[in-house]
Formats: sequence, C-alpha cells, structure tokens
Amino acid sequence: MTYTRCCTVRKIRRLLATDLDGTFVGDEDGLRELLRHYDSLQEPVALVYVTGRHRKSADGLIREEGLPAPDILITDVGTAVFTGPGLEEDEVWKEKMSGGWRPDAVAEAARGIPGLSRQDLPDDRRVSFYSDGPAPAEALHERLSGESIPHTFIFSSGRDVDILPEGGGKGEALRYVLGQYVEAGAEILVAGDSGNDRDMLLIGHPAVIVSNAQPELAEIAAREGLFRATRPCAGGILEAWRHFYG
Ligand SMILES: [Mg+2]
Repeated sequence: MTYTRCCTVRKIRRLLATDLDGTFVGDEDGLRELLRHYDSLQEPVALVYVTGRHRKSADGLIREEGLPAPDILITDVGTAVFTGPGLEEDEVWKEKMSGGWRPDAVAEAARGIPGLSRQDLPDDRRVSFYSDGPAPAEALHERLSGESIPHTFIFSSGRDVDILPEGGGKGEALRYVLGQYVEAGAEILVAGDSGNDRDMLLIGHPAVIVSNAQPELAEIAAREGLFRATRPCAGGILEAWRHFYG
C-alpha cells in the first residue's frame, strides 16, 4: 500500500496511534481509503502502531499486509518502544519496564491454575497466557495481588491474559511517546478494538472504538472525545478522523 511517510523528525504535529489486529488491519478497502485521505493532506500524519504482538510478529504482519512502515512502533502491549529511522529500541523505556519486574514470580503464581496456558514468547518482557474464559484470568489476578507481585493485569478478547510490569500497558507507553516526540496541541487520534487498547483509548486524547470491537469495550461509558465508529477497522478510523479533524 502506498503512503508517503515523512514524520520521522521531531516534533510531530499530527499522529494516528493505532492498534493493528482488528483495528488498522482487517478491512483492506477501508485501509486504502484511510491512507488515501492521509496522502491528500498537506500536513503528514505520523503513524504509531501499538500492538500486543512481539517485535518479530509485528514486523511479519507489516510485511505480509504491505502496511506503511510506522514512525514509531510499540509492541508487547506497551512494554517495548521502537523509534528512529531504524526503529531501534528505546532504552529509557526498556529500563523503566525492567525495574521491579519479576517474570519468574508471575509464572510461579500461575502454576496450578486450571484453564491457563502460557503463551510462547521470545522473551519475558511480559508474561502472557491463554485463559479458558475469564475465571482463570481472574484467579491469576487475585494471586498476583495477594502475593504483592508488582504487575499490570490486562485481559482481552475473552481469552488473552497479559501480565506486564507495573506502569506498563499501551496507554502508558503511548503517553511516554507523546511526551517525547509530539508537539503540544498536536492533532492526535487513538484507535483500538479490544481490552488491551482500553487504557490508551482513555488517556485523554480523541479516540475511536471501531465497530467490530470486542464486547469488553462496550462497557466504556460515553465521554467527550470518544467516538464509536459505525464502520469496522480502518474505515472506522477514517470516519473518526473526519469527525475530529475533517
Ligand atoms: Mg486488536
């Protein structure tokens, strides 16, 4: 897909921060329409991909779907940030995420909880599981809290459990990136479709929940700056962009 990028320099004045699966990716026609709209604008729109995937998996998706290379890439549910022309890992964020993080204690706490199976990941910057419905996830959450193991608990799509370092998550990572690279008063849109997008949808910038969103986002109360699209995936992002910025 064609889209002219030119936002790798500080400071960004227009930015789309979007989840990938089920949000930016999922409706090719809608995505083409969105990128065409962005291409027609005088002021370029920087792309920040904010995904639950690990880096290699995100790179694979970007390649397979022919997505524009992002200006900033946030992976592993906000536990890793990659910036610059070569998308190098941001060491400051990495350091912040490793403080107090005890992945072995998280794995230990999960032992013996029926209905939880650990996801196979290349590293332990997060510890993730598949949960057979919400009950096993909740049992883990209670254990972690009961044993005072520092963590952030994220449950998505009725199945995915991500245990992150304290202060992790898509919302916190995005807040960090905005503080580093984005001008005050910039036009920003945040887009998502599932539970791990919740915190970034609520950080206080204009946000869109696409129409195909998971039921766990239905319970977010209506609020100013939160747009519920009638279209799925990228078409819903375009609908919201036009709503907020024309
Ligand atoms: Mg998604």
